[in-house]
Amino acid sequence: MTAPAPTTPSIGAAYALKCRECGAEYELDASYACLECFGPLEVAYETTMVTREQIQAGPPSMWRYEALLPVTSGAGARPGLHPGFTQLVRADNLAAALGARAVWVKDDSGNPTHSFKDRVVAVALENARRLGYETIACASTGNLANAVAAAAARAGLASVVFVPSNLEAGKIITTAVYGGTLVAIDGNYDDVNRLCSEIAANRNWGFVNVNLRPYYAEGSKTVGFEIAEQLGWRLPDAFVSPVASGSLLTKVDKAFREFTRLGLVDEKPYQVFGAQATGCSPVSTAFRDGLDIIRPVKPDTIAKSLAIGNPADGPYALDAVRRTGGAIADVTDAEVVEGIELLARTEGIFAETAGGVVVATYRKLLAEGLIDPGAEVVLLNTGDGLKTLDAVASTSKPTFTISPSYDDFEAHYTGESS
Ligand SMILES: *Cc1c(COP(=O)(O)O)cnc(C)c1O
Ligand SMILES: [Zn+2]
Repeated sequence: MTAPAPTTPSIGAAYALKCRECGAEYELDASYACLECFGPLEVAYETTMVTREQIQAGPPSMWRYEALLPVTSGAGARPGLHPGFTQLVRADNLAAALGARAVWVKDDSGNPTHSFKDRVVAVALENARRLGYETIACASTGNLANAVAAAAARAGLASVVFVPSNLEAGKIITTAVYGGTLVAIDGNYDDVNRLCSEIAANRNWGFVNVNLRPYYAEGSKTVGFEIAEQLGWRLPDAFVSPVASGSLLTKVDKAFREFTRLGLVDEKPYQVFGAQATGCSPVSTAFRDGLDIIRPVKPDTIAKSLAIGNPADGPYALDAVRRTGGAIADVTDAEVVEGIELLARTEGIFAETAGGVVVATYRKLLAEGLIDPGAEVVLLNTGDGLKTLDAVASTSKPTFTISPSYDDFEAHYTGESS
């Protein structure tokens, strides 16, 4: 049996959904698993031609790369949150603190709902609209909930967002504020995800990371496109990505390969590194043990945005890391907090726990000799520390509290003298 030939019209340069395992092709509709082998589906494109000049003439958002996404051109002119084109910060102080040569931070806390998830939602939402969905939904570890609720509000669509009930207040409140339905589930993300697959099979809803997942995932490529453009149309020697489902890491790698194939950057070897919290490190464990199969775990970490115990794209993340000679490592919750504080104190960037995981993992990779301190590295900060205040609440407090008296101040202040 062969898959039906695609008959729906192309969407931009995208012409089909293609199975990553067996290559079967399907129409560009709301499906995510191959009917023949159950492999994940990915958007396939006609060979495109796009120049640096065309990209630079686009809007200062992720839509400048619309020719390389499954959207029709003009997406940038539509109502929406217009995420992307966030700062790439040269982190010389951090590099000096770590004994490294050249470090950059791609700071996606600057997105509309303060995480990189606005990018994936933007592409999924375009396709939800195209496919006629009036309700968009998701299973979320926190940031996706914010991004879906906000984007639905702007687009005038209904939203139904499912989250584990133990999420940080900074992610519950910042989702509920946009209206829509927010369903808290007594269970972990993997329980939430399983329930959502069941609901998706029974309701005509566009689940951004279930039935719309192939479109959603493409949105993450824009992180990689921006890094290359902002470095002056070239690739770094390495990047360090947080790993939850593994999608972001694989898509930044894909972005680098697409830019190379299009001649937008010179071909060069680069290394892909992954970062996990030890309390949810199934991909890091498989890497360390030299396995291709990822054994699911029950998450227990403060890095809740990365707490996916059964990561859908884990095997592909492993492939990318191994193909490029990179590594995946994990760090304890205490190291995550140190990572958040180190980035804040050296660069003035307050990252959420996932950013702390990346900084701490980079430090560990340096210490273990798994990454060259001379390599030019981009660290992905995917979210904002204001949403995970609890992580640093016990260590980040007033230096001292005094009465409004000059003598009292002099008695307590131990900083440098006048
Ligand atoms: C979702 C998320 C990630 C990574 O997600 P993947 O599932 O691996 O694509 C990283 N950081 C933050 C803050 C996130 O919310
Ligand atoms: Zn297949």
